Amino acid sequence: MGNKPIDWEAIQKKPGKDYKLSGTMILDFRKTIESQKEELTTKSSKIKALEDEKAKMQADLEAKANDLAKKIETIEKERDDKIKSLEQEMATKTESIKEQEDLNKQMAEKLDTAAGSVIEQTSAVAEKDACIEEKDARIAELENELAKRQDTIQQLESLAESAAADKDRLEQEIKSMEEQQDTLVNKVMDLEDKIQKPARVVTEDDMETVRACNTCKQYVLALEEYKHIQAVKLFDATHRGHMLATLTYGDVKDDFTSKTEEYLEKIG
Ligand SMILES: [Zn+2]
Repeated sequence: MGNKPIDWEAIQKKPGKDYKLSGTMILDFRKTIESQKEELTTKSSKIKALEDEKAKMQADLEAKANDLAKKIETIEKERDDKIKSLEQEMATKTESIKEQEDLNKQMAEKLDTAAGSVIEQTSAVAEKDACIEEKDARIAELENELAKRQDTIQQLESLAESAAADKDRLEQEIKSMEEQQDTLVNKVMDLEDKIQKPARVVTEDDMETVRACNTCKQYVLALEEYKHIQAVKLFDATHRGHMLATLTYGDVKDDFTSKTEEYLEKIG
């Protein structure tokens, strides 16, 4: 028989019939079955391992997917919160901007009002300045006038002083002249009867007394003789209110005109 192959067709046709198989064939057959069985076992365990691995990977993936979903959820929540807070902030800022705009508007109105007020005040100040300038000028005028009046007062005061001095001096002179007159009148009365010589009209003596008017630049000889005393009295009366003085011939001879002759003639 040897290694003749199994006629599978004949066996399928008559499966109830007994067929003769060599031991080698059966051994081979068993060997094949065992080998296939072993292979099957190996493959099964491989499949099992792969399935385990697949399950593990699926579990990992699910866990990762869960994590991811949670992270996404967290991120979305954060994003929503952020958006909400930004919206809030924006609303606040919009409100603040609106307030600022209102304030700006009010400020602009106030500035307009203030500017108007400043213009009014500026013109008021200019008017006041002009008024002050006028008043300053008037004050300067008045000060000038006052200074002039003070000068006049000073002049009048010095005139009054010199007039008072003149008056004192004249009173003194009048007094002494009156005294002289008293004594002289007596002498003259005596002499008149004795001597009928004419009164002297001219003199050459610088120390001789004369009565002079500084206003008119005239003088008469003031001798202690009756006619001369009368002449001096008439001279004084004629020059009343003038600057009269009792001087010497030496004082008047160059600048004054002698009126002695004229006055002696007047009194006869
Ligand atoms: Zn005179």
